[in-house]
Amino acid sequence: MTKIIAIANQKGGVGKTTTCVNIAASLAAMKKKVLVVDSDPQGNATMASGINKFELRKTICQILIDGLDVRDTIIEKTNGAFHLIPANEDLTAAEVKLLEYFSREFRLKEALSPIASFYDFVFIDCPPSLNLLTVNAMCAADSVLVPLQCEYFALEGLTLLLDTVSQLAEAVNPKLKIEGILRTMYDSRNRLSSDVSDELQKNFGDLVYKTIIPRNVRLAEAPSFGKPAMYYDKSSVGSKAYLALAGEIISGS
Ligand code: ATP
Ligand code: MG
Repeated sequence: MTKIIAIANQKGGVGKTTTCVNIAASLAAMKKKVLVVDSDPQGNATMASGINKFELRKTICQILIDGLDVRDTIIEKTNGAFHLIPANEDLTAAEVKLLEYFSREFRLKEALSPIASFYDFVFIDCPPSLNLLTVNAMCAADSVLVPLQCEYFALEGLTLLLDTVSQLAEAVNPKLKIEGILRTMYDSRNRLSSDVSDELQKNFGDLVYKTIIPRNVRLAEAPSFGKPAMYYDKSSVGSKAYLALAGEIISGS
């Protein structure tokens, strides 16, 4: 069974793209068939997979706006051994254009439907906003994975995100659920990190992944080489943490 997971948090810089690319590479290394859908005009997941976003003519933008067949945009050779539907800044204009379309929330879902069953996992990297691109991702998805930095305002943003997910589940995608909440960039020396982490577990219990992603410079460096961390420094704590998360996701699915 294919699992389609949107990676979302409207807060910027919390580790959505890092999680998307590294979890995808980890699952692909475990022989799963994985597709990454870059749904952020920043194109960070595209670059972090070793694909130059500036040289692309066919991206998710043409899928959403012109109705281009996804099979014409999928890149099968990335540095993460997963397939990729890339994005670049053309997608900024597409987000506005989408407003003109009838059933605009379902453009991505409809586009993915002919090919999704080929994959074990599809990960959609969302932009840092609860905009129409994120809504499209959540309408196409079975579940939402929420990366969260254990900081003071993190829980406040989380409530808004979870409300949005329940509203979408009620209105348009009844099967949508929270896949899990992932603690990212965790610094065990920081008291606030552990306080927020405790609070998170108290309030959300089993929804919080056991695996914690530590702050690790290798995870931050790897994208500049166009590689997931496991192909940049496989012994790094960051790359091992994402492999552990992959194990947790497989055992829960
Ligand atoms: P945006 O909202 O802009 O899309 P994002 O939520 O996708 O951001 P990332 O791009 O994954 O966040 O991460 C933000 C920055 O933090 C990046 O420079 C990334 O390399 C770095 N980073 C992410 N996770 C870690 C980590 N565990 N340890 C150290 N650096 C990290
Ligand atoms: Mg990102």
